Amino acid sequence: IIEINRLKKSFGQNEVLKSITFSVEKNEVVAVIGPSGSGKSTMLRSLVHLEKIDGGSIAIDGEYLAKDGHYPKAKDIRTITAKTGMVFQHFNLFPHLTVQENLEMAPRLVKKQEKQALRQKSSELLQKVGLSDKAEAMPNSLSGGQKQRVAIARALMMNPELLLFDEPTSALDPELTGEVLKVMKDLAREDMTMIVVTHEMAFAREVADRVVFMADGEIVEAGTPEEIFDNPQHERTKAFLSKNY
Ligand code: ATP
Ligand code: MG
Repeated sequence: IIEINRLKKSFGQNEVLKSITFSVEKNEVVAVIGPSGSGKSTMLRSLVHLEKIDGGSIAIDGEYLAKDGHYPKAKDIRTITAKTGMVFQHFNLFPHLTVQENLEMAPRLVKKQEKQALRQKSSELLQKVGLSDKAEAMPNSLSGGQKQRVAIARALMMNPELLLFDEPTSALDPELTGEVLKVMKDLAREDMTMIVVTHEMAFAREVADRVVFMADGEIVEAGTPEEIFDNPQHERTKAFLSKNY
C-alpha cells in the first residue's frame, strides 16, 4: 500500500534520513523502533507531507506523493495524503470543540458529508473506542488515555487506508497506556494497515507483523518480531534492545 524508496531528508547540515527504503503491504502492522533522534518522527511526518523530503520517492497505492524528491501539484498531494491518518504523541485535539465535534470537523470540511451521516459515524467510532459517554465533553476534561482514544477515533473518521502512530502512549501515565494499546490491538485485528513508532516493545512483539529498527537516519535491520527481538543481527540493534527491552 505504501512504498518508500531511498527517502532523504536534511534539516540544514543535519542529514536526518539517509536513504530509507521500505514498504508496507495492505493489512500489515509495522512497528518502528529506535533511539531518540534517529528520524522516526521525521519519516512518519514525511509520509503525510508534514515534512518535505529532499530526495527519493513515496508512493501510496501506486500514486506518487513524491518522486525523486519532486512533488505533484497541491491538489494531487491532498488526494494522496487523504488516504493516511495520523495519531500524534500529544493528541492535537481542538480544545474549543467537544469530543464529537473534534471527530466531525475534518470530514465536514473535506468531504461535505451529510450532518446526519457524520453524527452516526462519529457516534459509532466513539463507541468503538469506549467513549460514548464523552461525546459532549471538552477535551481538557478528559484523561490522557481518553484524549488519545478520541484522536484515534478522529483519524478513523476519514476512512484511512493507512494509519500512522507516533509514540501514541509516550505522553501517558503508565496506567493509561493499556486502554490505548487495546484500541490499537483491536484495529490490528480488524486488519487496519498501520505503522506504529513505539517504545512499547511488548506491544511491538505481540501485534506487529514486522519490526523496523532505525538508528542515525537509517534502517539498520527489519524482520519479524522474533527475528528482531530474539535474534538481532546488528550490534546497534543488540545495544538498543539491551537498554530498552
Ligand atoms: P524521538 O524518539 O526522540 O521522538 P525521532 O527518532 O522521532 O526521536 P526525529 O524527531 O525524527 O527523531 O528527529 C531526527 C533529527 O532531526 C533530530 O536530530 C532532530 O533534532 C532533527 N529535527 C527534527 N525536526 C526538526 C526540525 N523541524 N528542524 C530541525 N531539526 C529537526
Ligand atoms: Mg519522535
